[in-house]
Amino acid sequence: MFENLSDKLQRSFKNLRGQGAITDENISDAMREIRLALLESDVNLDVATNLVEQIRAKAMGSQIATALSPSEQIVKIVHDELVALLGKDIAKFKTASQPPSVILMAGLQGSGKTTTSGKLAAWLKKGGHRPMLVSVDVYRPAAREQLAIVARSINASLYEGKLIDGEAATDSVLRLAKEAKRDAANFGCDILIVDTAGRLGIDQVLMDEMARLKALLNPSEILFVADAMTGQDAVKSAKAFNDLLTITGAVLTKMDGDARGGAALSIRQITGAPIKFIGTGEKPDAFEPFHPDRIVSRIMGMGDIATLLERAEEKLDRGKAESFAKKALSGDGFSLEDFREQLRQIKKLGSMKSIMKMLPSVGPFAGMAQAAENVDEKQFGRVEAIINSMTNKERRNSDIINGPRRKRIAAGSGTTVQEVNNLLRQHAQMSKMFKTMGGGGGMKQQQRLMA
Ligand code: GDP
Repeated sequence: MFENLSDKLQRSFKNLRGQGAITDENISDAMREIRLALLESDVNLDVATNLVEQIRAKAMGSQIATALSPSEQIVKIVHDELVALLGKDIAKFKTASQPPSVILMAGLQGSGKTTTSGKLAAWLKKGGHRPMLVSVDVYRPAAREQLAIVARSINASLYEGKLIDGEAATDSVLRLAKEAKRDAANFGCDILIVDTAGRLGIDQVLMDEMARLKALLNPSEILFVADAMTGQDAVKSAKAFNDLLTITGAVLTKMDGDARGGAALSIRQITGAPIKFIGTGEKPDAFEPFHPDRIVSRIMGMGDIATLLERAEEKLDRGKAESFAKKALSGDGFSLEDFREQLRQIKKLGSMKSIMKMLPSVGPFAGMAQAAENVDEKQFGRVEAIINSMTNKERRNSDIINGPRRKRIAAGSGTTVQEVNNLLRQHAQMSKMFKTMGGGGGMKQQQRLMA
């Protein structure tokens, strides 16, 4: 997500480094590069032009000497302008005063509407709501079945309803929606998520249907679901939907792919509606509220520690982490059994790639985000397989793992003796390092590691 834009922007900042003061000339150079970076990341032309003009005006204004170097000044200005572009705060999610609140999901076919409906329901459930799902896509039976499967997988209520032979399609759509709203109220569901029919392109029948659904349901949210991978096209269809329906927010899906990020930076400016959520994978929990400041931080190469910590808070077992730290820092060191448990915990945070990408590209983690591309996720599976192939005794005391045992472990885990050797060496080194940190002078050692 945003790697491209992030890399390009950082290159333009780097060129400014080492220059004594901001001058007209270096501003012009930087602006040219920033504009190029934005356009190559598929940012809408008008949006890019406006943004660069704002940045230029602010940069000119800041020519008077400040404590910041030119590159720091430009970085700060770009950061602030990007935050302004995306909206400063996390967008509020609206509900009606009288339940059930209705969320109307809009978007083109394949944008991820059904998947997102499910993700949203799961997210709302986690927040203590009782959502109900309904699909009013009467044109494609498979679409309604898909939502039923999604609802089952996250254990959310679903209004299935029935189609009536001979009933006109739009009548069926409106009837199903009305029945679902009544059903939600009867079952004490406070939010009804309406998954609508998508089309391959904007067409009049679809638009009329959406307008009638809006009039009938009086939704508190109309969320436009856009596939971030489609870049400019997503922005165009967002505008068409917004012109007709006045959307209340957008959800950008497939942000885990190699989308260039331009859609995210353009959609709010073009529609006036904030991005409320992003989808980051196919699974129901690959979904997060959109935090403009965190996204900007990622774009600027400052990582997204806030999201990483939040994920850790939610998914990790604090007790296990604490007992591991205590053990590792004690004189006894930690065993391969503890090491395997730590690997399992880390895996809960997502792929190693996604974790590394959230680290700042400056400071102690410099280079990690860039190195993420070359990470071999399977490597972690192999390490776990090696540890699994050991006996309990070996896991607790790796000193007894001699030559023949190494051969047996490699054969049992489908790896090589060299890989087993590597793991044992790494474990010994880490164990020693932790011991020194825990023992006398540990703080100093830690400070050195963090510097
Ligand atoms: P709809 O036609 O708009 O209802 O789209 P679907 O919900 O059926 O999604 C279309 C495809 O996109 C499916 O294969 C989904 O699994 C996939 N998809 C949806 N959201 C995401 C996402 O955030 N990341 C990824 N990688 N795939 C997604």
